[in-house]
Amino acid sequence: MPETRKAILIVIDGLTPSVFEAAVGDGRAPALSFLAEKGRYARAVSTFPSLTPVCLSSLATGAHPDVHHIPHLVWYDRDRKRLVEYGSSFAALRAAGMARSILDAIINMNRLHLSRDAVTIYESLEDAGLTTAAVNITCYRGRTRHLPTLPGVTIPAYGPKRFFFYNLFESDPTGAPLAVFGRSQGSIDGYAAAVGRWLVTRDGFDLLVYYLPDYDFASHAHGPEGAVEALVRSDAAVGALLDAAGGPDEFLERYAVVLCSDHGQTNVERSARLQDAYARVPGTLVTASNRAGMIYRLPECALDARELAELLDDDEAAEVVLFREGDDVLARRDGEEVRVERDAPLFEYPDGGSRALAALQNPNAGDVVVSAAPGVEFADLAGRHHAGGGSHGSLVTGDSEVPMLTIGLDELPESIVDVAPALIRHFGVEPAPYTRALTRAA
Ligand SMILES: [Zn+2]
Repeated sequence: MPETRKAILIVIDGLTPSVFEAAVGDGRAPALSFLAEKGRYARAVSTFPSLTPVCLSSLATGAHPDVHHIPHLVWYDRDRKRLVEYGSSFAALRAAGMARSILDAIINMNRLHLSRDAVTIYESLEDAGLTTAAVNITCYRGRTRHLPTLPGVTIPAYGPKRFFFYNLFESDPTGAPLAVFGRSQGSIDGYAAAVGRWLVTRDGFDLLVYYLPDYDFASHAHGPEGAVEALVRSDAAVGALLDAAGGPDEFLERYAVVLCSDHGQTNVERSARLQDAYARVPGTLVTASNRAGMIYRLPECALDARELAELLDDDEAAEVVLFREGDDVLARRDGEEVRVERDAPLFEYPDGGSRALAALQNPNAGDVVVSAAPGVEFADLAGRHHAGGGSHGSLVTGDSEVPMLTIGLDELPESIVDVAPALIRHFGVEPAPYTRALTRAA
């Protein structure tokens, strides 16, 4: 029986293992350095597509997309016959319809898109009588109804008991300010820090999920190695929790910690338009963003998934092209075709077989799923991309590896899908049956 103790999950969006490892021992990142010195550390694997809505859903549910059903940043909802865009870029939101996209990202992802068969960490622990808190994480589904803070807006969100979401939903009055227009200066993480300080000061939770998105924003602009300043601010947001507990040692007396990111990032040299290969194929719909793309067959499409996949055989921007054929999932790369199998290698990609299979076995995924070649990013709905900066989404190691640090936990997760079950077991609660068994035990 593990010692039941309060815990905090810290997620620094887009932080790569190499940047984290270099920050440890660097005086500019004192909070991360302190935690790393006290904890167990290893590199772990993300899910696929390695994009934030997919990854945060995996962190919160302990499942890959075959179970949680969130397929991409942008996808086609076959049931409702419409495009869903969670926010590839501001212009892409506008192209997809601003009001509807904001509603999709903030409310519908949790209420409509996230599968009912998936159980979030908030649902698991609160059903066991514990109190969970979430700050800014986009996968927040819980059992408590919260009304928005905006006057006149009455759409409720169902979240954990303590729920803070970019000033839009605040279960408690913390007085934390939010300046959404100062994004590059790290205003979102500053808001998280103010809320986190309030929560730790009151010791107001059993589990806190503390999500810091600003690092990813900076890394897209400057590339993964160029975002050190942003990491200093993420470190300050972590440091705020340590301070609120009365100091680093007091903090660790009170809380077990998991610190990780949701995906990595790699440098982008050029952009490509996945849409162009299908422009002359009636009945296809392409959703592309960052370093992954999907092709959906609409009912009038005359080509099958294999034929659609083969159209990319000579496309240098597409490194691996995956498609379903009957019960099989197949992968094409450089003229070679292999069957994708769970727990089996897929070329050299980390956890490649399981991740690729789960991506394709998601009913919301395209009939064809594309992992971009190194250095390439697919332009989004509005043509935006991060050429000259950083991006992620593919199966390659750089996009897929995350730093994974634990303190006071019996397990060291090998994958982001192991985080939720490890934390749930830490509280002596049984995780959902689809989750993986204990990994890398201490
Ligand atoms: Zn990102």
